[in-house]
Amino acid sequence: MDSVVYGPVPSWRLGRSLGIDLLSTKGKTCSFDCLYCQLGRTTHPLAERREFVPLARLTADLDRIPPMEADYATFSGVGEPTLASNLGPAMETARRILGWPVAVLTNSSLMPDEGVRQELALADVVVAKLDAPSEDVFQMINRPTTPYPLHEVVEGIRLFRSHYRGKLALQMMFIKENKGCVAQMARLATELSPDEVQINTPLRECAVDPLPPEDIAVIKDGFKGLGVVVTVYEARRPRIAPVNAKETLRRRPKERS
Ligand code: SF4
Repeated sequence: MDSVVYGPVPSWRLGRSLGIDLLSTKGKTCSFDCLYCQLGRTTHPLAERREFVPLARLTADLDRIPPMEADYATFSGVGEPTLASNLGPAMETARRILGWPVAVLTNSSLMPDEGVRQELALADVVVAKLDAPSEDVFQMINRPTTPYPLHEVVEGIRLFRSHYRGKLALQMMFIKENKGCVAQMARLATELSPDEVQINTPLRECAVDPLPPEDIAVIKDGFKGLGVVVTVYEARRPRIAPVNAKETLRRRPKERS
């Protein structure tokens, strides 16, 4: 059986990051089917949470990793990590065994769920996706399976922000479909008051073209006054070889956006 732990991988957002895939399904299990997903189409669309990986298996896999250093243990992988109903206890397990800060990359689809917000609040860093300022753009880009309309997702992020004491980053992926929405997206970001805005465009191989650096620079200008705003083109990717790749750790060729 493959390990649920992979990497460490270099991340433009999180430095050196040991990945944990709490879904570990064959093929992508996600509540979105984003146009730009580098993992291809969503093979297992899902809207409700359930347990995929028992804590005992996660504990065994974490206990097996060789000594190494990393900046974060990051719950991400091939799909949406908040779909795992044991995400909260899994974060506590990872923190206890590894002693590192814990990050979660979420597509925000389940932010309207209070239980999900409570579990996410256990993380040191939450990177929350928000690609659309309106329902039609949301449906066009993210193609959600979840029943929540965009305004409920945004309200969920707002509620999360109001209680969360860790670092909240909003990640906004820009492609040609939402390139004209910069002013509305910047207004949303202002309302949500994240610690950081991460402006992204899909640089890894996928079904849509990335925006060029000059377009991303113009988009960043639209977020002036918002505090920390970083773009994928500015971020320096650390050149880190995986530690003991021959050991039990898997190296994923791709990780979600
Ligand atoms: S980009 Fe992320 S949220 Fe979107 S379909 Fe892929 S895994 Fe799911």
